[in-house]
Amino acid sequence: MSITSTRSRIGILIGQFNAWVELGVSPELTDSERRRQYIVNATPSIILVAVLFYIALFWSLGSPALMWTAVYELPVVLTGMAWFRWRQQQCRPVSYWSACVVCQMTVLIGIVSGQGTFINTHFYFLAFSLTAPLIVPITHGKRLAVLCLECLAVYLGLEYFQWAPAPEVLQLPADTVKRLELLITVSCSGILFMAFYISESFSEELEIRLRTMASTDTLTQLANRRTFQTALVRALALAQRNATPMCLAILDVDFFKRVNDTYGHDTGDAVLQHVAQVMQSAARGGDLVARFGGEEFVVLMHDCVVDKALVAAERIRLALQSTPCLVGVHTIAVTASIGIAQWHVGTEAKQWLEAADNALYRAKQAGRNRVELAALASSAA
Ligand code: GH3
Ligand code: MG
Ligand code: MG
Repeated sequence: MSITSTRSRIGILIGQFNAWVELGVSPELTDSERRRQYIVNATPSIILVAVLFYIALFWSLGSPALMWTAVYELPVVLTGMAWFRWRQQQCRPVSYWSACVVCQMTVLIGIVSGQGTFINTHFYFLAFSLTAPLIVPITHGKRLAVLCLECLAVYLGLEYFQWAPAPEVLQLPADTVKRLELLITVSCSGILFMAFYISESFSEELEIRLRTMASTDTLTQLANRRTFQTALVRALALAQRNATPMCLAILDVDFFKRVNDTYGHDTGDAVLQHVAQVMQSAARGGDLVARFGGEEFVVLMHDCVVDKALVAAERIRLALQSTPCLVGVHTIAVTASIGIAQWHVGTEAKQWLEAADNALYRAKQAGRNRVELAALASSAA
């Protein structure tokens, strides 16, 4: 089997596992709730795979006593899975602690029913106590500390008092015991790595989502004012150093209040989304189109002389004029006025914005649906 097809099979398996784990995780939950649900849903499934692995392993060693210790673990895991599913269907969350109880009960049953501490199964408790802070968010500080200490105490207790295994287990050849210890260590590390991986991928997803939310305008999906301001500062610093030409366009939708008044606020929102789409597709590639606020948009044109900026702005204006917005049964004509200001060495961001805004004001005064160029060019030079 080729590496690519093995990878794609693993990908499919991971996809199916995700689908199973995500089943019932309501999208209405907050991010941290979703993360918790995902982790606690995944936990019994991972343990189930581990228990089945142990049953097969002990069976292959020809040790019925050991095999039964793993079989006894099954009801706990299956009950845990069924209970978690049931809670989900009731839209009630499952806590980390329920998942921990299922994990710990499973391991304890294995130890008490015959494995004892002879093959180091209690190593799981030490591993839990050390890795819990990587899986459970640190925001659950106190409970996390209790969990770590509890796991450590159980491990030390078992290590100190040594739980006797079933007599048959003591008869196992030394090299078999060594192999068992190794396999238990490897599978324990695998389980904890998976839990850590799930937790981490959720943190990453959450971080990406927060970053997108902070930088994107939720209505139009364009860059928001904050992102624009940051880009503006960075672009100014670069232009200052390299003396590259830059232009800024401010666009304001004409008579937008009328749209709201005539068709309602929701239709007004749809028109703003339409304007954003048209602007994005008519703007020059690489230029930053952002929503400045309300029905005002900006385009930051990098490496752009004023003649080219005028052409680009005219293209945007014409695109808007020639693409009416369809909302339900309504066809709404949209036009916009645009003010352009060229950047000159020494011009501050505030001055530059004001210049573009003044040009926009003149475009409005001159009858709207037009592009005007700022007079700043000469004054700032
Ligand atoms: P002008 O041609 O002079 O720009 O006229 P205008 O009607 O476009 O300008 P005005 O400033 O009077 O009205 C802007 C309106 O935009 C008022 C405000 O309620 C509306 N608005 C601002 N943000 C939003 C939004 O996110 N959604 C909707 N639907 N309307 C918005
Ligand atoms: Mg306005
Ligand atoms: Mg307007």
